[in-house]
Amino acid sequence: MAVLENLVTSVATRLMGVDSATAVEVSQAVLADLVEYFGVDVSFLRHNDHRIHASVLVAEWPVRPGIPDPDPLKVVYFADADPVFALAEHQKEPVVFRPEPATDEYQQTIAEGRQIPSTSMACVPLLSGEVTTGVLGFVKFGDRDWTKAELNALKAIASLFAQVQARIAAEEQLRYLADHDDLTGLCNRRALLAHLDRRLADGQPGPVSVMFFDLDRLKAINDYLGHTAGDWFIRVLAERLRESADGGNLLARLGGDEFVVVPGGTLNSDEAVDFARRLQTRLHDRVAVDGEMLTRTVSIGVACGMPGRDTTSDLLRRADQAVLTAKSSGGNQVAVFSDDMAMESEFRNDIELHLQGDIERGALRLHYQPEVNMHTGEILAAEALVRWEHPTRGLLAPNAFIGVAESINIAGDLGRWVMRAACTEFARWRSHGVGLDAVLRINVSPVQLVTDGFVDSVASIIDEFGLDGGSVCLEITENVVVRDIETTRKTLAGLKDVGVQVAIDDFGTGYSVLSHLKSLPVDTLKIDKGFVRDLGASPGDLAIVRAIIALADAFGLQLVAEGVETAQAAEILLEHGCHRAQGFLLSRPVPGDQMKALLAEGRIPMNLAASPRL
Ligand code: C2E
Ligand code: CA
Ligand code: CA
Repeated sequence: MAVLENLVTSVATRLMGVDSATAVEVSQAVLADLVEYFGVDVSFLRHNDHRIHASVLVAEWPVRPGIPDPDPLKVVYFADADPVFALAEHQKEPVVFRPEPATDEYQQTIAEGRQIPSTSMACVPLLSGEVTTGVLGFVKFGDRDWTKAELNALKAIASLFAQVQARIAAEEQLRYLADHDDLTGLCNRRALLAHLDRRLADGQPGPVSVMFFDLDRLKAINDYLGHTAGDWFIRVLAERLRESADGGNLLARLGGDEFVVVPGGTLNSDEAVDFARRLQTRLHDRVAVDGEMLTRTVSIGVACGMPGRDTTSDLLRRADQAVLTAKSSGGNQVAVFSDDMAMESEFRNDIELHLQGDIERGALRLHYQPEVNMHTGEILAAEALVRWEHPTRGLLAPNAFIGVAESINIAGDLGRWVMRAACTEFARWRSHGVGLDAVLRINVSPVQLVTDGFVDSVASIIDEFGLDGGSVCLEITENVVVRDIETTRKTLAGLKDVGVQVAIDDFGTGYSVLSHLKSLPVDTLKIDKGFVRDLGASPGDLAIVRAIIALADAFGLQLVAEGVETAQAAEILLEHGCHRAQGFLLSRPVPGDQMKALLAEGRIPMNLAASPRL
């Protein structure tokens, strides 16, 4: 009795620290002990997989020599199992089989396999509550009886194995959750990173290619049809990816509408592009969402890396860069990471690295471009345009860094710096009696516009420098207005209360802000320089400019033409009733002291005035 108790205790001790990595090995060792202790010939531990209605071998002792692959006993489906295995599906109490006619069929199977005439066997179920989770079996070649005490000890041991199984199942479930995306069941970011780390380890076969998918305009589905529809849509696409790329390829969702496929084989970039195109076609098929048939185009970025040379983050960054290129060239494209992109990304990284620090160190400058009445040469306004005195790259234009600032969330810092610096300088000019009738124009980044507290911060800066709101005009680009009309409307109304003016910049480039124009509190439209530059050469541009002029008239808005580079453009604008303008013909953007001097003059000499037509 005491000996049996000791046996159970020793098994308990050995199973205590088991995890999924050591389970098989330790189970095998325990089975070996039990074989020896009970004087039987074979012992096995099997797990019931109720999802597939089968019994799965976990461990056995002794290990059968020369097991064929696949092992016919590894997975045994209850439906076509012999009666002994079939019993194990729901067995609740130990069962002992001894050489009797009742178990003929089983005896025969064993006999055929082993050329041993008759065997006996004890089967003890593993139980987890009401569920039979597996079976512990002991086979003796020949007859063997089992005492009640022995069977009780086996029940105790089976219950220990059942606990281990439950713990490992829970662990595996946790690991599954940690590595998979809830919504789609695809791998998540963590699993993707781990996979690429393994694939890119020195000595692994290469190249390793990565495809980065981006569903163009998923946001619109979420916005217009709701998140449930958006989720459904993502799930359908994940399913399609699985259908067309499962088997050897890693499929991951990084959240939102970003999917990554890592082909299992070593594909060079041409092969990867072919593969990407096939998947793209498949994903492009229409999806029914809430009774509407939707298609979304998919942009794909492809990058390849070599094990031992490239890191996971290199590779993903390149694929990400490529997908941005694919998107910006109109979407529904496949783009491969190239050397040009490498240079651009190096530049971007550099900008990212230094911008924040340089804003704080005071490396930003403001230049100003006058806005002029082309009839008289009178200066009506000065637009503040930011520059960055980069330590190694010289004076950088805003297009080189504003986008980066927005993407790394420091557009707010940059915007506040511009606002404060421009107001400081403008207030100083005015305190010298300069620019009293002029308007200061400040560009506002889209990100600022939707930031909480933006209106308040404008109010407090205006107030701090004692400027009247009417002499400050904030410029927002048309694209932004169109993108988020409700937020824009609210912010603009707030700015009106503060008293500042508002201009819509780059007018004509957005899809159509026309429909909203009436309802937005806006003072000025600035015609995008793209339409102005070639006036005189391009009849299409003229038609648009005339339409904008008519529109401004109809809505009682002030109108400024940007990008006036030629006398011809100036003449045409004047001819059609637009006399306010900015452009290289009139003046390039200049540093603050020169702007102050121009304002002190009050006007710039108009060579145009010499023209007989004006
Ligand atoms: P924008 O607001 O449309 O500013 C006018 C841009 O056109 C300026 O470029 C100006 O130098 C340029 N320009 C003026 N006249 C002509 C011309 O006759 N021909 C041509 N081809 N170009 C002309 P800049 O200074 O490089 O600024 C580019 C853009 O960067 C600005 O376009 C604006 O959107 C943005 N930006 C500038 N400063 C700021 C700022 O402080 N904050 C924010 N958020 N954006 C800024
Ligand atoms: Ca502007
Ligand atoms: Ca503009």
